[in-house]
Amino acid sequence: MQIVLLGPPGAGKGTQAVRLAKAMQLPHISTGDILRQNVKADTQLGQQAKGIMDKGLLVPDALVASMLDERFNNADIKKGFILDGYPRTLAQAGMLDQILMKKNIAVDLVVYLDTADEVIIKRLTGRLVCSKCGANFHITNMPPKEKGICDNCGGSLYQRTDDVETTVRKRLDVYKNEVSSLIEFYTKQNKLHKLAADLDPQIVLGQIIDLSRALK
Ligand code: ADP
Ligand code: ZN
Repeated sequence: MQIVLLGPPGAGKGTQAVRLAKAMQLPHISTGDILRQNVKADTQLGQQAKGIMDKGLLVPDALVASMLDERFNNADIKKGFILDGYPRTLAQAGMLDQILMKKNIAVDLVVYLDTADEVIIKRLTGRLVCSKCGANFHITNMPPKEKGICDNCGGSLYQRTDDVETTVRKRLDVYKNEVSSLIEFYTKQNKLHKLAADLDPQIVLGQIIDLSRALK
């Protein structure tokens, strides 16, 4: 099953994607994570992306699409995947369909995680991310059992350089500019399901799993 998680930065796409991937035994593909790995490894792509990401802007579609195309060549997507952070523009949604069509698969379910702006700012400026498995924690809302250490894998936690308030606000602006066309695109295909993402993460997870079961 091919699942896409849509929603503003801080809606909990990463949190849900990690849990969903575990529950459904599917790979979690996050374009943000792949980009950050490239930045960390100082690849050519990473060098091109870093400044853009720190400003809260979008990395050019062509770069992200070829990165994704490459990721989809990995055999682990045979049973499907949880896609997090892509598509972000209508053009990207079209490119995704093209990439998947070559493999005779399509997006099955799009979950839109709806969240209020104030919640987003609080969540992101306090967010901690695992450097190893990508799991998300929060300084006050969802602290790790041991300070600075991931509950899942023992990796070290860090704060993303784009999780400062000015960049978070820019990311929200960019997101709002693009999302309505994506909502329309997936609503027309009857694939979009909107969930209130301000609820407890386990409740949201249960709702996503129910949606995916209904499709089987
Ligand atoms: P968030 O959803 O919280 O903003 P991500 O980790 O998904 O976080 O993305 C972080 C940054 O990586 C984005 O602000 C953007 O610069 C870049 N990025 C991630 N995915 C894409 C994409 N599909 N297209 C363009 N840029 C992207
Ligand atoms: Zn971890």
